[in-house]
Amino acid sequence: MAYQVIARKWRPQKFSDMVGQEHIAQTLRNAIMTGRIAQAYLFVGPRGIGKTTSARIFAKALNCKHPVNGEPCCECDSCVSIANESSVDVIEIDAATHTQVEKAREICEEVLHLPIASKYKIYIIDEVHMLSKSAWNALLKTIEEPPEHAKFIFATTEVNKVLPTVISRCQRFDLKRIPTNLIAERLALIARTEGVQISSSAIDVIARAADGGMRDAQSLLDQMISFFGTADGKNSSISEAQALSLFGLTAPAEMSGLIQAILCNDRPAVITAIHKFASAGKNLELLFDEILGWLRGIMMCSLLPNPETVLEESPEKISIYAELAKLVRPDSVQRLLEQLSSTGFLLREAINKQIFI
Ligand SMILES: [Zn+2]
Repeated sequence: MAYQVIARKWRPQKFSDMVGQEHIAQTLRNAIMTGRIAQAYLFVGPRGIGKTTSARIFAKALNCKHPVNGEPCCECDSCVSIANESSVDVIEIDAATHTQVEKAREICEEVLHLPIASKYKIYIIDEVHMLSKSAWNALLKTIEEPPEHAKFIFATTEVNKVLPTVISRCQRFDLKRIPTNLIAERLALIARTEGVQISSSAIDVIARAADGGMRDAQSLLDQMISFFGTADGKNSSISEAQALSLFGLTAPAEMSGLIQAILCNDRPAVITAIHKFASAGKNLELLFDEILGWLRGIMMCSLLPNPETVLEESPEKISIYAELAKLVRPDSVQRLLEQLSSTGFLLREAINKQIFI
């Protein structure tokens, strides 16, 4: 069998597979169960967090012959054809490549025809903010009063560019960034199932780098496997250091040494550590960002009884923060953060970043 990239192979097929968007999954399942279906939906959120995936699952559930508790069965003709993108009644359009009014007019005509093999004719229109104003004007009436058999699902990363008249005609869902720990759990499951050896700390590194996007996380895992895996598909366990090296990030042990030196005002140690990072070719702007991230983590640990509720980090990392927090008073950390935050932009312009730091 040809190699299938992880993001594609692991794309959620049901609402229950969706990670981090439970509120939306539940509402959509309820809509299916109660039969209270709006004519148009709008999925809003940053890229890679599951807007099109949600749209496809919803389309599947709408047209499924035997839905179970609002979930698509994933076995009937309709579910299968949507999963392999061959359904004649679910039409996906990328608005970024079809901005013109002609396409909109085409949709308005097509929509009048009954679905061929399913209950509904469903239009999934991605990046809908890219449609031209005239395209929208052509579509508006259809969205307002579509034929009974037609449903529209729009997705956008930039809802501020979508006309208010359109938004008001849709049921709107805002998808959230997926918390790092949920991404990490999912990656661990994928690695186990795929027989990929990777340390949990390396998984955390990927999950953090993905910044809330499951698709990015899965692509990064793929990249990591092709980078550090061997020809026979087996690899010795991918380590945290390897994962960090791919993103130019620093290992917690090294970072915690530097942060401790900063907190204890140990200037020789700070200078030595920075010198070491700079000689190793470390990106110093990235290092500066990491320092800020650590100080924030430490401050949260000293201010909050349950810092894990705001810090999307592994328990190990949080316990390092907590240890460092014991070294100084919270207001000292706050002062450090204030001063560093307000000088950060100067670092971007600095001729010699090492001297600046
Ligand atoms: Zn089905």
